[in-house]
Amino acid sequence: MKNYITPNFKFADIIPVKAKENTVWDDKGKNYIDFLGGIAVNALGHCHPALIKTLDQQAKKLWHISNLFTTIPTQELAEKLVKNTFADNVFFANSGAEANEAALKLARKYAFDHYGPQKNKIISCLNSFHGRTLFTVSVGAQEKYQHGFGPLPGEIYYTPFNDSEALKEILDDNTCALIIEPIQGESGVLPAHLEFLETARKYCNQHNILLILDEIQTGMGRTGSLFAYQQYQVIPDILTSAKALGGGLPIGAMLTTESIAKSFTPGSHGTTFGGNPLVTAVANTAFDIINSPETLNNVKEQSEKFINELEEITAETGVFSLIRGKGLLLGCVLNEKYKNKAAEIVNASLDAGVIISLAGSNVIRLAPSLIINDRDRKEGLTRLKHAILQWKKNA
Ligand SMILES: *Cc1c(COP(=O)(O)O)cnc(C)c1O
Repeated sequence: MKNYITPNFKFADIIPVKAKENTVWDDKGKNYIDFLGGIAVNALGHCHPALIKTLDQQAKKLWHISNLFTTIPTQELAEKLVKNTFADNVFFANSGAEANEAALKLARKYAFDHYGPQKNKIISCLNSFHGRTLFTVSVGAQEKYQHGFGPLPGEIYYTPFNDSEALKEILDDNTCALIIEPIQGESGVLPAHLEFLETARKYCNQHNILLILDEIQTGMGRTGSLFAYQQYQVIPDILTSAKALGGGLPIGAMLTTESIAKSFTPGSHGTTFGGNPLVTAVANTAFDIINSPETLNNVKEQSEKFINELEEITAETGVFSLIRGKGLLLGCVLNEKYKNKAAEIVNASLDAGVIISLAGSNVIRLAPSLIINDRDRKEGLTRLKHAILQWKKNA
């Protein structure tokens, strides 16, 4: 097929044409077990009947009306997010990057309003990922994503992840925000230590810094609780969500407290599509299913089974040194011997009929649907093991 898309993507060799639950089919009729879920997006698998029903019903009512009006599905979704978290107010966007963009802009504005323009420094963690707009790519501390796009926005500084001592050194009274992923997703599925998040909270309080938790990948049930911060019991001032929030439709959200939200006065920030009722209607249905004991317990149960069986594969193949992560966001760290070979394993797995991805060059990432079952897990892991054994023979 001729490719008309700008060359910033390296598409896989297959063309998916349809999907159901945890299975994807390509244009040749071959099937794949989906252990990636569109990169932690399809929390309820593909084409979930309850989401189809809502989408169909809302499609006959109201698709888009702009933020000159509010809508019932949008207010309902905001209420659900507020009632189940620390937050009082929600801003809806269309993507993770836009949710973070709003969070960072709000943090600057809040500091400006309350303390003056000198309090504008933003601190993020080395190897973090916060999106691809110019502001968020500048805050995400990965040179490879910034290269050639300068000049970048200023007063952004980086600190090592999980290093509490360094945090103490870098945070000061001119810092307006500290942004952290509870699990660094893109750079290798690396969970934050409890002590690091607790230290972050402590110094943020000391210096009147807003703590932003980027839960775009870890939120919406992914780690076994609605948001990961609820397991750490470290309460942020601002939280961002996206990926799984729309059950497959594009949406992002920034959650915060009423006193902070007040710095977004009428007209100070905006979006045309954000909070679009077609998307929020589907997100409401997704929210109810994700935030149920049934789904959250399944995440915990399947997580244990995945980890056990991935450890068996580790013992049998010797390719991994460690399985890490939380809930159904799992990283298989490659052995020193197979360093930088993650992309080869991803390709071999696709050939064998299982969709996974890499997180950095050294880690295989799994983010299956939160409603995955024993049958699909076993089938996918059998294919993965087969792929690794075949690949090792040729490596
Ligand atoms: C995916 C991701 C983003 C960016 O989200 P987009 O929807 O691609 O803009 C930001 N932060 C984290 C932690 C993510 O995983």
